[in-house]
Amino acid sequence: MTQRRVNGCALSSCSCIRMGTAMTETAYDPQNIFGKILRGEIPCHKVYENDHVIAFMDVMPQADGHALVVPKTPSRNLLDADPATLGHLYAAVQTVARAAKAAFAADGVAVYQYNEAAAGQTVFHLHVHVLPRHEGVAPRRHVEGMADPVLLAQHAERIRAALAG
Ligand code: AMP
Repeated sequence: MTQRRVNGCALSSCSCIRMGTAMTETAYDPQNIFGKILRGEIPCHKVYENDHVIAFMDVMPQADGHALVVPKTPSRNLLDADPATLGHLYAAVQTVARAAKAAFAADGVAVYQYNEAAAGQTVFHLHVHVLPRHEGVAPRRHVEGMADPVLLAQHAERIRAALAG
């Protein structure tokens, strides 16, 4: 069988689209919830922001202090993101991880990142989970239950204070 590359795809009939240098099967949808947070259309418990990223508390935390770091440049996930976006993102992940570890006197920090529904992704704007972890304490399940907003606000303040210190 002869295959022809059209916009980088091996199949001329394929519905894949090209985003940057990577192939993805589905386009970025700006109506996703993190897109709305980035545009200020819905609130969040923000802990950190720079020119490239914003970080805020996960509303269904798997551990106290669970934050999300989100690039401002729209990407669906790791698969279509450009390397510069990833560089800025992971530099900020390190910043937030250090602060969250200090704020929650954690023994370690878990960093998770899911790509496509089959891998556990539920919000289709690239983001990285940062979870303070304590010895012998298992994380709660992914997207299991909403946290008390008052508690989330307190946890956000602890991370902001660690970042300021
Ligand atoms: P993922 O499954 O990796 O796409 O994770 C998406 C995460 O976003 C989940 O952990 C959700 O709890 C979290 N989440 C969903 N909506 C919001 C929101 N409005 N603010 C903060 N976190 C959210």
